[in-house]
Amino acid sequence: MIKLSNVSKWYGNFQVLTDCTAHVHKGDVVVVCGPSGSGKSTLIKTVNGLEPFQKGEILVGGTSVGDKATDLAKLRSRVGMVFQHFELFPHLSIKENLTLAQIKVLGRKEDEAIKKGLAYLDRVGLSAHANKYPAELSGGQQQRVAIARALSMDPVAMLFDEPTSALDPEMIQEVLDVMVSLAKDGMTMMCVTHEMGFARQVANRIIFMDQGHVVENCSRDEFFAGARSERAKGFLSKIL
Ligand code: ADP
Ligand code: MG
Repeated sequence: MIKLSNVSKWYGNFQVLTDCTAHVHKGDVVVVCGPSGSGKSTLIKTVNGLEPFQKGEILVGGTSVGDKATDLAKLRSRVGMVFQHFELFPHLSIKENLTLAQIKVLGRKEDEAIKKGLAYLDRVGLSAHANKYPAELSGGQQQRVAIARALSMDPVAMLFDEPTSALDPEMIQEVLDVMVSLAKDGMTMMCVTHEMGFARQVANRIIFMDQGHVVENCSRDEFFAGARSERAKGFLSKIL
């Protein structure tokens, strides 16, 4: 579904990604972890074309992301992305947040978009809040709306970049619960997160990054069994 082959990227003279290779198969839940500044956000943003890269190749469902002929807007509509900050439109109601891109990007009719958006809002447990505005919801609720909004586009895969790291502790679990339920439903997911409980529960692969390199790319069981690099061990000893 997602195939990164020897991806390298520079910001000016600074090499932020070096020869990153990773494969995400349909139904995989891949957790990407590693120290701050190791390139996790940059890597995940290259997958849906939010960040260009200079070397290597990325294929999403057979479409080459780096190919100039690729319609990136179309690609992004098929790969959902959820960020650390929820990025809902503050001046739009929850219902409007859920339907805008469906109508504008996918060309869906309004009633169809509303039906789909409300179904996903229900799925994340927030159907009572359709007519509220983002500021009226808690951070955890806003992040669940952001997930519902991404799902409303019928993505082939979902990318998450530290979706719980800006949340108050008591709201983290409600967002993780939604992600766990998506994973169990077979959604293909690539998640940058330090939530190792989530990784243990649903990840089937773990990618550990350090200084722009994919240092480990192994099964969850291998990763937690301890067959890992000194750098990964040092990182885990600090967060577990
Ligand atoms: P992570 O998500 O693992 O914390 P990032 O992908 O955000 O790491 O950043 C990796 C490195 O690239 C960091 O050293 C960061 O300072 C640098 N970086 C990120 N974005 C930019 C940018 N737009 N211009 C220059 N350097 C950047
Ligand atoms: Mg980051």
